[in-house]
Amino acid sequence: PITVEHVTHFLTAAAELIHAHRDELTSLDAAIGDADHGANLDRGFAAVIARLPTVADKDIGTVLKTTGMTIVSTVGGASGPLYGTAFVRAGMALADRHEMSAEDVVLALEAALDGIVARGKAQPGEKTMVDALVPALEALRAALAAGRSLGRAVQAAAAAAEAGAQATIPMLAMKGRASYLGERSIGHQDPGATSTAYLLRALAMTCS
Ligand code: ADP
Ligand code: MG
Ligand code: MG
Repeated sequence: PITVEHVTHFLTAAAELIHAHRDELTSLDAAIGDADHGANLDRGFAAVIARLPTVADKDIGTVLKTTGMTIVSTVGGASGPLYGTAFVRAGMALADRHEMSAEDVVLALEAALDGIVARGKAQPGEKTMVDALVPALEALRAALAAGRSLGRAVQAAAAAAEAGAQATIPMLAMKGRASYLGERSIGHQDPGATSTAYLLRALAMTCS
C-alpha cells in the first residue's frame, strides 16, 4: 500500500521537478501571462518541503491538507488557490488514512480536480491546468480498469498529462490572465497545464 512516506517522496520529487523547470514555466507564463508561474510554484513547493518535518508522523490526509494550506498562503496568483484547493480536497478525501490503495489514488485525483473546477470553473478545452489533469485521470482509470499495476497506470496518467499540456498550444484561453489576450493566446502552451504534467510525473516517479 501507499503510505505517508510515499506521499513525502512525491512532494519532494514534485518540488525538485518544479525547481528544475522553474525558468521554463516562467517563460511559458511570459508569453501569455505575467511571467511568474515558475517562481510562484517554486516558492510554494519550497515552503511545502520546509514544513514536511512537522507532519511526517501524521496521516496522509493531514500531510496533503497542510500542503494545500501552505500552497494557498505562499504561491499567490491564480494557481495558488487552485493548486491549494486541489491538495486540501485530496487531503479531505483521505482524512485519517495511513495507507492508500490504487483506487484511493483515483479518489484523491478526482477530489483534486473537483476542487480546481469548483474554484476556477474551467471546462476542458479552455487552456488551463484542467486540460492536463482530466486526460491524466481518464488514462489512470482506463489503465487500472485494464488490469495494469498502479505504477504502470500512473505512468500512463503522466504521459496523458504531458500530451494534454501540449494539446493546449492551439487552444484559445478562456480563463485567467491568458484569456485577456484573446486570439493572441493561441500558439502557446499553458503554464499551469505544464506544471500539472510535472506533478503527475513526480507521482509516476513515486509509484514506479
Ligand atoms: P497568475 O495568472 O495569477 O499570475 P500563475 O501564473 O501562477 O497565476 O498561474 C497561471 C495558470 O493558472 C494558468 O496557466 C492556468 O493553467 C491556471 N488557471 C488560471 N485560471 C484558471 C481557472 N479559472 N481554472 C483553472 N486553471 C486556471
Ligand atoms: Mg502568472
Ligand atoms: Mg501573477
